[in-house]
Amino acid sequence: MSTQVSPKKTWVRPIIRRQYMGSANKFGGFSAPDSITAIDGVAIEQLREYGSPLFVFSEATLRNKVQQLNQAFANRYPHFQAAWSYKTNYLDAICKVFHDEGSWAEVVSAFEYKKARANGIAANRIIFNGPYKPYAELKQAVAEGALIHADHLDELQDLESIGKELGRVVEIAIRINLDTGMYPAWNRFGFNLESGQAMQAVNRIAASPNLALIGLHCHIGTFMLDAAPYRRAATKMAEFWKNIEAKTTERLRYIDMGGGFASRNKLKSQYQAGNSVIPSFEEYAEAITAPLYEAFRSDQLPQLFVETGRALVDEAGFLVSTVVGSKTMPDGKRFLVADAGVNLLYTSTWYDFKISPAKHYSGTLEDVTLCGPLCMNIDKVRENCLLPDMRRGDQVLIHPVGAYNVTQWMQFIEMRPAVVLIQTNGQVKVIREAESMETLKRQEQS
Ligand SMILES: *Cc1c(COP(=O)(O)O)cnc(C)c1O
Repeated sequence: MSTQVSPKKTWVRPIIRRQYMGSANKFGGFSAPDSITAIDGVAIEQLREYGSPLFVFSEATLRNKVQQLNQAFANRYPHFQAAWSYKTNYLDAICKVFHDEGSWAEVVSAFEYKKARANGIAANRIIFNGPYKPYAELKQAVAEGALIHADHLDELQDLESIGKELGRVVEIAIRINLDTGMYPAWNRFGFNLESGQAMQAVNRIAASPNLALIGLHCHIGTFMLDAAPYRRAATKMAEFWKNIEAKTTERLRYIDMGGGFASRNKLKSQYQAGNSVIPSFEEYAEAITAPLYEAFRSDQLPQLFVETGRALVDEAGFLVSTVVGSKTMPDGKRFLVADAGVNLLYTSTWYDFKISPAKHYSGTLEDVTLCGPLCMNIDKVRENCLLPDMRRGDQVLIHPVGAYNVTQWMQFIEMRPAVVLIQTNGQVKVIREAESMETLKRQEQS
């Protein structure tokens, strides 16, 4: 028998795919992306030399955001200090931009504390939060003069022992959780206010010759689309302060209102696109400072801290990815496969990022699902986005992705890519090298 193969074409079932010309349709947030061909004047095309995928940060945006935050509070309040939330993005180069703009550091682990110290931050400009502070590191932080925020009773016990060991009074703050009308309430951390736990903790501190209470801390949630809970939280913090000063001999100095301001991103559960519903820094600042003016005489206003993370860094971060293939599913739905997936975008579980082509296209748009390189069904970076006819090798920008991705990314199947910073002088600087086989080999033994 002849084995000759006939030049017959393979049959493909005809399918009808919906094409979109404009941007408005019944799905609301389902709008066509604008192409983004450059970030701060640097062409995306030119960034190919750093490899793909590639995280790109804009120094100009980082500085701009933190300046806006500082201005919003400085316009209203005389004793304000921002502390950069390390866990939101602790790449040293990013932290250093915020420190250069005057931010202190807010850390939630011994590792982050060490990172902040290594970045040259004096201990008395580090706020040490979090539910687990190992004894040795906690003792060191106390000895160095860090601002310690106690989370639970066992930690108060540790702090008291440290005070005894060092032969002195340890000044601390406590984290409290409170009902701001937001549900579910964030009540896992700190001492609950309404149940009386927080007052018990205060009494415990007041009774100790080795402890003194100097501050109150709360962190009421993240991506808060309403400023009103901050007003309620600040009101309750001020009331609690007054109550403590009336009933004990503890004398407080500061209130720390935590983080949680929203960035211009879009939660999957949110109907409208980010920009139209997100409070400005001015609105958050007003909600926090107004109750303090109501509660305190203007010459007795407490020092005020905020620990904003997401809202300062999210929009400064982009992930540039390359399309590696496309496929049409049996139901006609089109999938684009890119080299960046949920391994690099932990937060894609909650947010619908914008997906922007990196060059201009003509023609119609199609409703596609953008997938990553993992061999897992869940590896969908974004479902239902309108994109032009993109081909293998074309670049896409996924944004905003500056918050929590570069700290929560995982090394699953793929190694982590490089991160670059587009500096205000126009130079592109590699701020974290791509992982390589050498990176991995250094840690393994066989
Ligand atoms: C995570 C965290 C922050 C930062 O929160 P954002 O929502 O990113 O602003 C601030 N304070 C504490 C205690 C945190 O755990």
